[in-house]
Amino acid sequence: MSSTVAAEHLKSLGPFGFVSGADANVKHRQDWSGLPPTIPLGVVYPRNTQEVAHVLEHCLRHRTPVVTQGGLTGLAGGAHPMEQGVVLSTEKMRGVSHIDPVMGTLTAWAGTPLQEIQNAADAAGLYFPIDLGSRGSCTIGGNLATNAGGNKVIRYGMTREQVLGLECVLPDGSVLSSMNHLLKNNTGYDLKQLLIGSEGTLGVITQVVLRLQAKPLHQQSAMCRCETFEQVLHTLQHARKCLGPALSAFEVMWPEFIQCMTTGLPDLRYPFAQKEGFHILIEESHFSPLANGGGLQHCLGELLESVVLCDVVMAQSEQDSQDLWAIRDSVAEYGKVLGPIIGFDIGLPTPTMEASTQAMLAAIHQQWPKAVVLFFGHVGDCNLHVVVHVPGMGEAQPHHAVESLVYAWVEKVQGSVSAEHGVGLIKKPFLSCSRQPAEIALMKVIKRALDPHHLLNPGKIFDLPTPA
Ligand SMILES: Cc1cc2nc3c(=O)[nH]c(=O)nc-3n(C[C@H](O)[C@H](O)[C@H](O)COP(=O)(O)OP(=O)(O)OC[C@H]3O[C@@H](n4cnc5c(N)ncnc54)[C@H](O)[C@@H]3O)c2cc1C
Repeated sequence: MSSTVAAEHLKSLGPFGFVSGADANVKHRQDWSGLPPTIPLGVVYPRNTQEVAHVLEHCLRHRTPVVTQGGLTGLAGGAHPMEQGVVLSTEKMRGVSHIDPVMGTLTAWAGTPLQEIQNAADAAGLYFPIDLGSRGSCTIGGNLATNAGGNKVIRYGMTREQVLGLECVLPDGSVLSSMNHLLKNNTGYDLKQLLIGSEGTLGVITQVVLRLQAKPLHQQSAMCRCETFEQVLHTLQHARKCLGPALSAFEVMWPEFIQCMTTGLPDLRYPFAQKEGFHILIEESHFSPLANGGGLQHCLGELLESVVLCDVVMAQSEQDSQDLWAIRDSVAEYGKVLGPIIGFDIGLPTPTMEASTQAMLAAIHQQWPKAVVLFFGHVGDCNLHVVVHVPGMGEAQPHHAVESLVYAWVEKVQGSVSAEHGVGLIKKPFLSCSRQPAEIALMKVIKRALDPHHLLNPGKIFDLPTPA
C-alpha cells in the first residue's frame, strides 16, 4: 500500500479518536514487559462495541494489523505495538454498567480498571476475588485476555473461573454477544473460553459478565517460619484440611529471598528474631462474626506443637497484616535491591518444587557463579516466581541463555513456562516446552479460522506464515 493510501485510510478512523503514532501518548509504545518502545501507525479509542466493529472492519479492508491495549501492565509483551499496526485502546470503554445482587453478577465494559470492579462489588456488599498488584491500572478486559491469576487463586481459581459471559468483536468485525448471566448453561461449546487467555489474538473483548462472591467478614493473616520445604508442604496440607475453602492465600518465600529483600529494604517490618528458613504467608478469609473466629490460630498452633513450624506471628491489626504482606509485595522492588533482573513466572508440580529450585540454581551457578537467584511462589497453586540477577549484566544480558536453562527444567518436569502472565512475545520461543505439537497445531487452526488474514495481534503466542 502506498504511503498516501495508508494515510487516507488511517484518516477515516478519525471518528474513533484516531491519533497518529508520533502524536499519541507515549504510553502506547510499550507495556510492562520491558521490550524497547515501538511507535505504532496510530492509536484509536473506540467508545463502544459498534465502534470497535467499525475499526476492525476498516482494518480488515486495508489489511492493517490491530493490537489491543488495556492497562498495559502485561508482563509478556502481549500488548506491545507494531510499527505497521494500529493500536486499539480500550480506555474509553470504561465503567460498571450493572450489578445484580440476586444473581450475584456484575456487568462492565472491558476497559474498566480491576480496582473499579472490586470497589463496585464491595459497595454492593459482594466480592470480586481477582486481585493483582497492578489492580489500579490493569483492565478487566486485559485480565480476561491474559486469564490473570494473583494471590487468591488457591481459593477462587483464575480469572477464567469468574467469567459468566462476554461480548467481543471478531477479526472480521462481527459482534459475538455471549452475555450469559446463568451459572449453569450447558448449551453447546463454551465460546467465551476461546477468548479468555487468547491475548488479543482472536477478538477484542468489549463487555464482560462476572460472577461475584460473598464478601468474607474477616481476613486473618499470619507469617510462619520453618526449616525445610517438606515442612512447607506439610503446612499446606494441614492448612487445607483445617481451613477448607477459608484458606485464601499461601505464599512461600525461600530463605535467600527473605535475606536479600529484608536486608535491601530495611523499612520492611520483619517479625522474627531469625531470618533463616522458609517463610509462609497464610491468609484465611472467614465468615465468623468474631475477627479471630476462624480456625487459623488453632491450625498453626498444632503445627507449632508438632514442631513442623518453628515460628508463627498472627497479624493483630490491619497495620500488622499490611506489614506482613509488604514483605511478600517487596517483589515490586527487585530492581531497587538487585538492579537488572530476568524474571520468571513458571508452573511446577508442587511436590517437585524444591528439587526444581535446587536443579535450576545449580545449573545457573555453574555458568554464572555470582548470579543471585531468588524464589517465591503461590505454591498452593503450583506457581513459582524466579528472579535472576547476573552481576554486570547490562546491555548484553544473558537473558536467552538463562531462560533456556530454566525452561529446559520446566519441560523436564512437565511444568508451564507461564503460570499466569501469558505468552505474548516474551515466552513465544518457549511455548513448545509446555504444549504438545498437536496442541499448538490446533491453536493455529483456531487462529486461522477466526483470523484468516492474521491481523489481530499477529506474532503473539506463536508465529504463522504471512497469508498470501
Ligand atoms: C505490579 C504488577 C503486578 C502484577 N501481578 C500479577 C499477578 O499477580 N497475576 C497475574 O496474572 N498478572 C499480574 N501482572 C500482570 C498484568 O497485570 C496482567 O497480565 C493483567 O491481566 C493485564 O491487564 P492489562 O489491562 O494491563 O492488559 P494489557 O497489558 O494492556 O494487555 C495484555 C494482553 O491482553 C490483550 N488485551 C487487553 N485488553 C483486551 C481486550 N479488551 N480484548 C482482547 N484482548 C485484550 C492485549 O492485546 C495483550 O495481549 C502484574 C503486573 C504488574 C505490573
